[in-house]
Amino acid sequence: LETNIGKLAGYLARFKESGILNQIGGEAQPAASGATFETRSPVDESLICQVAKGNAVDIDAAAKAAKAAFPAWRDMAATERKKILHKIADGIVARAEEIALCECWDTGQALRFMSKAALRGAENFRFFADKAPGARDGQALPSPTLMNITTRVPIGPVGVITPWNTPFMLSTWKIAPALAAGCTVVHKPAEFSPLTARILMEIAEEAGLPKGVWNLVNGFGEDAGKALTEHPDIKAIAFVGESRTGSMIMKQGADTLKRVHFELGGKNPVIVFDDADLDRALDAAIFMIYSLNGERCTSSSRLLVQDTVADDFEAKLIERVNNIRVGHPLDPKTEIGPLIHKTHFDKVTSYFDIARQNGAKVVAGGTRVGDAGWFVRPTLFTGADNAMRIAQEEIFGPVLTSIRFSSEEEALQIANDIPYGLTGYVWTNDLTRALRFTHQLEAGMIWVNSENVRHLPTPFGGVKASGIGRDGGDWSFDFYMEQKHIGLAT
Ligand code: NAD
Repeated sequence: LETNIGKLAGYLARFKESGILNQIGGEAQPAASGATFETRSPVDESLICQVAKGNAVDIDAAAKAAKAAFPAWRDMAATERKKILHKIADGIVARAEEIALCECWDTGQALRFMSKAALRGAENFRFFADKAPGARDGQALPSPTLMNITTRVPIGPVGVITPWNTPFMLSTWKIAPALAAGCTVVHKPAEFSPLTARILMEIAEEAGLPKGVWNLVNGFGEDAGKALTEHPDIKAIAFVGESRTGSMIMKQGADTLKRVHFELGGKNPVIVFDDADLDRALDAAIFMIYSLNGERCTSSSRLLVQDTVADDFEAKLIERVNNIRVGHPLDPKTEIGPLIHKTHFDKVTSYFDIARQNGAKVVAGGTRVGDAGWFVRPTLFTGADNAMRIAQEEIFGPVLTSIRFSSEEEALQIANDIPYGLTGYVWTNDLTRALRFTHQLEAGMIWVNSENVRHLPTPFGGVKASGIGRDGGDWSFDFYMEQKHIGLAT
């Protein structure tokens, strides 16, 4: 821990001195208004640094820079774009430690999970770099009088708006395919965790990305974020965040007919049938809600457990949850760090009382840890039914709600009785049941007898209030590119 804290101090020194600047047209610059805001660590509320507080003026400058850079970036040979994106990945790998330490200090996420986040970000760049040369591939669809050709072209400058929970990985997940497609980018990262977006931007420019291809404007959602979604030069918005923010963005973007791609909230069920490998199901259920502080869109925040095995399963769960280590995020032994900020801490802890008022039991956790920083004990609610707020609302913390069911029909009814539909996790050794159940489960992504394992060629995204559109594989290019038809008379 001491070594990591020492290294972090070295990495932060320059931010403390000059703050975090925006990057517009290849130039590091303060907000046009000169305004800044503070970013503080959730560990102890200490000031990390000042951050440029961009608004509509900065967004306008960034959008214009992205528009000016677009034709050359679009027309650059895709093999050249591929080389630059691989160089960005190399740069990320070279600075992986700095990225991980800064991310943990800024967000409160534990290093044991975040140490891999930078490398996942590099993989996102490599994956889409390799896909860049094929992005425009189309097909010939001849008719008797025409040689019909389809091709794809990048849509134009795009806006990328990201949340605070795993900011580095999510920024790469959105920006890499946009650049590979030939789009230019204006990125508005979350105001609560701006550090690693700045580092990523610097890596990109050092890798030789032409000026203006990728612009960074820090600021608040209702200000800089809103201006980005309303800007006429921005053709599409890739957004990751809360469902209600997604609704706002859709309204804000209506006048300029924005194409939108939304990765939103979740209240994902992990469904454990009594014929499952219960030890593995237990491990996966714990990992999917208590890693990353439970601040994870794909977390398994609703446990649906068959009543025949529920007593035993919940008893083991309580024992395991009580052993989870809460602590300093830079301590390699820590499993849960502090929640991102006070407002979120207040939201998460408010559910401890809501659970009791609803008539559920708080059988593990349910308390704050210490009196500095925003630490909470991993928490388990049992005796819940699906109508309770703890079963319906995204808490976005290390908090699991256990609900019992007696039959497959009941499990399906409970699982689908929710506004969200991001992921589902099904544990059963009955193959026909797994097929039947997954067919009817309302979720964009389902894993059977597995935790969430990302495979980049597969589609990532949700249904219902969990999102619109898919990322991954070629699906990313469907969003960042326009299909074009050309018919030649024969
Ligand atoms: P949020 O919606 O509050 O903020 C996300 C981003 O949107 C921030 O950059 C914010 O400044 C910006 N924003 C806010 N209001 C805006 C507006 N009116 N116009 C434009 N931009 C605006 O979300 P959060 O609290 O930062 O993140 C947590 C949420 O993100 C959770 O709901 C979580 O499930 C979701 N999430 C989803 C995925 C996914 O892949 N589905 C992944 C990670 C997080």
